[in-house]
Amino acid sequence: MAQPIQLFDPHSSTYTYLLFDENSREAVIIDPVDEQLERDLAKLREYGLKLLWSVETHAHADHITSGGLLAEHTGARTAAPAGCHIGTAAVQLKDGDVLRFGGEQIEALHTPGHTAGSMSYLWRDHVFTGDTLLIGGCGRTDFQSGSAADLYRSLTQVLFALPDETIVWPGHDYSGRTQSTIGEEKKTNARVAGKTQAEFEATMAALHLPRPKRIDEAVPANLTSGLRHDAGSESEALRPRTDQGYAGDVPPQLAYEWWNRGDAVLVDVRSDAEREWVGFVPGAVPLAWKQWPGMAMNAEFDAALRAAVPPGKKAVLMCRSGVRSIAAAKRAMQLGVEAYNMLEGFEGDPDENGHRGRRGGWRFRGLPWRQG
Ligand code: FE
Repeated sequence: MAQPIQLFDPHSSTYTYLLFDENSREAVIIDPVDEQLERDLAKLREYGLKLLWSVETHAHADHITSGGLLAEHTGARTAAPAGCHIGTAAVQLKDGDVLRFGGEQIEALHTPGHTAGSMSYLWRDHVFTGDTLLIGGCGRTDFQSGSAADLYRSLTQVLFALPDETIVWPGHDYSGRTQSTIGEEKKTNARVAGKTQAEFEATMAALHLPRPKRIDEAVPANLTSGLRHDAGSESEALRPRTDQGYAGDVPPQLAYEWWNRGDAVLVDVRSDAEREWVGFVPGAVPLAWKQWPGMAMNAEFDAALRAAVPPGKKAVLMCRSGVRSIAAAKRAMQLGVEAYNMLEGFEGDPDENGHRGRRGGWRFRGLPWRQG
């Protein structure tokens, strides 16, 4: 392909980009929009593509990403700039990191300013600039860790250092323009061309833009790759099960949040072999649950669990599909630990053909994991 496939979401005026390797048909999508999930899945089918990566330029305030859902539907992995705190992204990108698809690759360029974590992506002689550089303009810098000084440096020292012929593909355009070049933006960009840093900062400070309509909904959702739209309603996600001998059932995303915040210890009760074969969650405590017939107690498990969960912390128990983890959670409760069962397990439920891991599960919800 000589050109990326450029797709447009009219509600948010967002451009999504699809790139692929012509031989392997492996593909990358940049900044997908949740309302366009069906369109994007259809595009992948139409071109016969295997999506390897769903990538964000930043945590958007004006729309919700479909990155997490695309990962569930296609098996793609999610990647996001490390500085954006999108904890669910499987790969946290640093400046200069490369994502490969077939014989092609994109390179991450840290271009802070619109947000502190914002990145642009370089593919051949094309650059996907997100909200850092727009055609004739640039992203705002007045919220979400924005900085006009940083944006000036990103524009003038990172993006304008690219060859003039480099084609610019912006994250938005509000008047139908589709692409530009670095040379053209250097000459004519109304915000930055020929401006000193002080002039640029004064221009940005004088914009007084309205608050984005969807910011309160979009940013929290985008911090989970678009998977959780219900930020703040933890009680609904958590199903108490104290009558059944353990504290409750939690979905993988909520387990991840508790663990990420340091409120809970994640305990993986699968066997060593399962972790090696299928994959594991870096940082989860490996503690195999073995229950032999007629053997109610497992002194080794008890001692290791007590040692792994400090007083005052919850334990979330995870297995392959959420069966062993219930037994282990009950045992943990008997040991005085506030123990929860993680729904769906690491791999989720089998699909109609009996293949595991196509319906939910930690791994297929875009949460961090590694191959054993
Ligand atoms: Fe933005």
